[in-house]
Amino acid sequence: KYIGIDTGGTLTKIAYLSADDELQLLAFPSNDLASVKEWICENTKVNAIEAIGATGGRTEQLRSVLEDIRSIHYIVEFEATLKGVRYLLQKEQRDIENAIITNVGTGTSIHYMSDEQHIRVGGTGVGGGTLIGLAALTTGIANYEEINTLANRGKRHEIDLLVKDIYQGMDTPISGDLTASNFGKVGIVEQTDFKKEDILATVQGLVGEVISTLSIQYAEQNNTPNVVYIGSTLSDNDHLKYVMAHYTELKKHTPIFLDDHGYAGAVGALLNM
Ligand code: ATP
Ligand code: MG
Repeated sequence: KYIGIDTGGTLTKIAYLSADDELQLLAFPSNDLASVKEWICENTKVNAIEAIGATGGRTEQLRSVLEDIRSIHYIVEFEATLKGVRYLLQKEQRDIENAIITNVGTGTSIHYMSDEQHIRVGGTGVGGGTLIGLAALTTGIANYEEINTLANRGKRHEIDLLVKDIYQGMDTPISGDLTASNFGKVGIVEQTDFKKEDILATVQGLVGEVISTLSIQYAEQNNTPNVVYIGSTLSDNDHLKYVMAHYTELKKHTPIFLDDHGYAGAVGALLNM
C-alpha cells in the first residue's frame, strides 16, 4: 500500500486509497511536517503504508523528516500534477480533448495538455500566496478562511475601474464589464477608506483576473477552448472562483473546476507508485 504526498510551498497534500479503493485526501500546513510524520505513523498499521510517492518543491524537507521511517520515490512536480489532473478529469467524467491546466498554488504554473502530450507553458508569481500577502498588508487579516468569508460579502465597484467607467456615455471598444484598472478608481476619486470586505473582494479580483487573463492567452495560443483551474487557492473560495469563471467566460473560453482541485499533485505521486 502506498500514499502520495505533494509538499508545496504552503500546504502538504496527502492522497491514498482506502481498503475499499476509495480515494482519500487530506492536507497539512507545510511548516508542520512533524504532523505529517505523526499522521503516517498512526496510520501505518491501519493502512499498511509501505512506501511514499512524493512531489512538490519542499520534498527534500519532507524526506529529511520521513526517511528513517519509509522509502520515498520522487516524481517531478509537473509530471505528478498532470498525471493527477488526467485521473481526476476521468474520475469526474469530464471528457475533454485538450485544455490549459492552471495550478493556482502559492504561485501559479500553467500547462497545456492534450491526449498525447503535456507541456509547461508558463506561469506567474501571482497566486494564492499573493492573495494572503496582499490581504494581510491591506487589511491586517492573514487568516485564509476569514479572508474568504469577508471577500464573499465584499463589492468591487467602488475600487476597481471598469472599461465602462472610462467610456462614459460612449460605445466601449471592448466589453464594458472588463476591468480597465484593478484598484484604479481609488486614485481617481481620491478616497482611501474602504470596508475590509470590499478591499478583500478587490484583491481576489486582481489575483483572479491576472491568472485568468494569462491562462486565456495560452489557451488561444494553443487553440483550446478549455481552462481547468486547480490548486488549493480555490478551496472554499467562491468569490475567487466566480471571478475566474466569469472572466474566462467573458473572454469566450470554458472554465472547468475539479472537485478535488487541490490534490492533483498528491494523486499523481500516488499513481506513480
Ligand atoms: P506551490 O505549488 O506554489 O509550491 P502549494 O502546493 O502549497 O504551493 P496549494 O496548496 O495548491 O499550493 O495552494 C496554497 C494556497 O491555498 C495558499 O496560498 C492559500 O491561498 C490557499 N489555502 C487554502 N487553504 C489554506 C489553508 N488552510 N491555509 C493556508 N492557505 C490555504
Ligand atoms: Mg503545489
